[in-house]
Amino acid sequence: MAKEELECSFCGRKKPETNLLIAGLDAHICDRCIEQAHGIVIEESKQTGNSELSAELMLRKPKEIKAFLDEYIIGQEYTKRVMSVAVYNHYKRLLQPPSDDDIEIQKSNIIMVGQTGTGKTLMAKTVARMLNVPLAIVDATVLTEAGYVGEDVESILTRLLQAADYNLEKAERGIVFIDEIDKIARKSDNPSITRDVSGEGVQQALLKLLEGTVVNVPPKGGRKHPDQKFIEVNTEHILFIAGGAFDGIERVITKRLNMQAIGYSSINSDDNVDDDNILQYIIPKDLKDFGLIPEIIGRLPVLTHMDPLDANTLRAILTEPKNAIVKQYKKLFKMDEVELTITEGALNYIVGKAIEYKLGARGLRSLCEEILTEAMFNLPGSGESKLNVTKAYAEDRLSKSTLKKLKAVS
Ligand code: ADP
Repeated sequence: MAKEELECSFCGRKKPETNLLIAGLDAHICDRCIEQAHGIVIEESKQTGNSELSAELMLRKPKEIKAFLDEYIIGQEYTKRVMSVAVYNHYKRLLQPPSDDDIEIQKSNIIMVGQTGTGKTLMAKTVARMLNVPLAIVDATVLTEAGYVGEDVESILTRLLQAADYNLEKAERGIVFIDEIDKIARKSDNPSITRDVSGEGVQQALLKLLEGTVVNVPPKGGRKHPDQKFIEVNTEHILFIAGGAFDGIERVITKRLNMQAIGYSSINSDDNVDDDNILQYIIPKDLKDFGLIPEIIGRLPVLTHMDPLDANTLRAILTEPKNAIVKQYKKLFKMDEVELTITEGALNYIVGKAIEYKLGARGLRSLCEEILTEAMFNLPGSGESKLNVTKAYAEDRLSKSTLKKLKAVS
C-alpha cells in the first residue's frame, strides 16, 4: 500500500520508524530530522549573534521579568514592577527594526532612591543575571571631571568592557549600575556658585554617556594618554541604572507635600501621608532640589524608590530568596556532611539584632558569620553530623564575639 511506503525525505526512515512524519509539498520530514534541523538553526543564530539575544529577550514579558526578580528579591514590589517595564521597553527599543515613521523610542534609564542595604545593587545584578548581559558596578564618588584627581567618567565603560571580556558587542548591550549618584549632587542650590568640582562637573560629563554617544574608552582604564589606543564604545544601547540613598531628601519631599497641602487647602483623610515611607512620594523635582541637574534627571526618566526593610522583610530575606543566606550556609555545612538547622527563635533573634544595630539586610550576613564561624571551624572532620542553632546558641556566640572584639580594642 502506498501509505506504508511514505518515508522521510531527509533521512530515509520509513513512516513506522518515526514518531511523526510531516508532509510538505513534495517531501516529508520526520520528527528526528525536525529536531536536528532546529539544533542547526539555533547554532547558526548563535553565530550570527543578535538573533539569539533577541529571541531570548523577546520571550520575557514584564510579568516574567518580575517573576524572575521575585525569586531573588524580597518585597520592593513597586520597584520590581517599574524595573520590569523599563527593562522590557529598553530591550524593545534595542530590537526595534529601523522604521520610517520618525518615532524614536528614547532610553529608559532608571534611577532608584532608597536607603543603603535595601537591595538597589541586588536589583541591578538580578536584571543583568536574567538578561545574561555584562554588568559594571561603579561608584559615582570616585568620578571626577576630566583633569582632576580621580577617575574620568569613561572609566565606567572600561569596567563594562572588562565585565564583557572585551567583547565590544556584548558591552554595548550591557548594564551600568552607578551607585551613590546622590554624592555628586550640587552642594548648593545656587548654580552660579564657584565651580563645584566633585559634583556638577561630573554630572555634566555623565550626560553624554547616559544619552547615547560614541566614547573613546581607554581599554585598561586610567587617564587618557596620548599613546594609548582607544576602543570606541557606543553607549546608545547600554542601560544605565543609578542608585543613591539621597540622605535628607525626605525633608525636601515633606516640605513639598506640606506646601501642596497649604496651596490647595484640600487635606482630607484619604491624603494621609505615610510618614514611615516618605520616599514613596518622590518626584523628579525633589531630585533637582537635592542637587541633581535637570539634564541628568531628564536622562534618567524612570524614577523609583526602595521601601525600608521591616522585620518581616528581613526575616524573609534570611530564608526565602533563591540564594538566601541561610540556604548558602546549609549548603556549606552539607559539603562537610553536617546538617544545619536554625530554629525560628534564632532567626528572629538575628533579625532583632540587625534592627537594633541598624545593620539592615547587609548585617544579616555578618551576624550569621559571627554566629557560625566557630562551628565552621570545629565541625569539619569532627564526625558531627548535625548542628542545631537555637536562640541561646546564637546569643552565646554573639556575646563571645563582641567580647573578643572589645578585648581587641582595649
Ligand atoms: P544597596 O545597593 O541598596 O545598598 P544591596 O543591594 O547591596 O543594597 O543589598 C545588600 C545585601 O542585602 C544584598 O547582598 C542582599 O543579600 C541583601 N538584600 C537587600 N535587600 C534585599 C531584598 N529586598 N531582598 C533580598 N535580599 C536583599
